[in-house]
Amino acid sequence: MDRISPERRSLNMRAIRGKDTTPELRVRKCAFAMGYRFRIHVQQLPGRPDLVFPSRRKVVFVNGCYWHGHGCARSFRSKTNVAFWSAKIARNGERDAAAISRLRVGGWSVLTIWECETTQIDMMEARLRAFLGDAGERAT
Ligand SMILES: [Zn+2]
Repeated sequence: MDRISPERRSLNMRAIRGKDTTPELRVRKCAFAMGYRFRIHVQQLPGRPDLVFPSRRKVVFVNGCYWHGHGCARSFRSKTNVAFWSAKIARNGERDAAAISRLRVGGWSVLTIWECETTQIDMMEARLRAFLGDAGERAT
C-alpha cells in the first residue's frame, strides 16, 4: 500500500525534478567551478538575490524566462487565462526592476542571467567573468 502522504510525495517529486537541473543550480555550479565563492539567497538584500559576492559588492539574479517575462521564445508558453498570468508576470517584472534599483542605490552591481542563457556554459562563463573580474580567491 501507499504509505507516503500526497504532501510528502509532491515534496519528493519537486526535489527530484529540481535536482541539478534548475537554471540557478547551473549558474551556481559554473561560478563555483570558476573559483568564485558566494552566498546564496541573501534575505537582507532587496529581491533576495540568488548569488551574492559580498567582497565584490556584486549580485546575480537567475530569472526564469516565463515568470520574469524575458520575451525570448521560452517565455511564451501557452496558458489558459492569459490576462491573469500576464498581469502576474508584469508585476514580477516591476518587482525585479525595483529590487535592482534599490541594490544599485546601495552600491551593488547587478547581473541578470536568464534561464535560456544557462544552457550555454561558454557564454555563461564569459558573462560571469566579465561581470565579476578574476576569481582571485581560487582554491588550490
Ligand atoms: Zn529567455
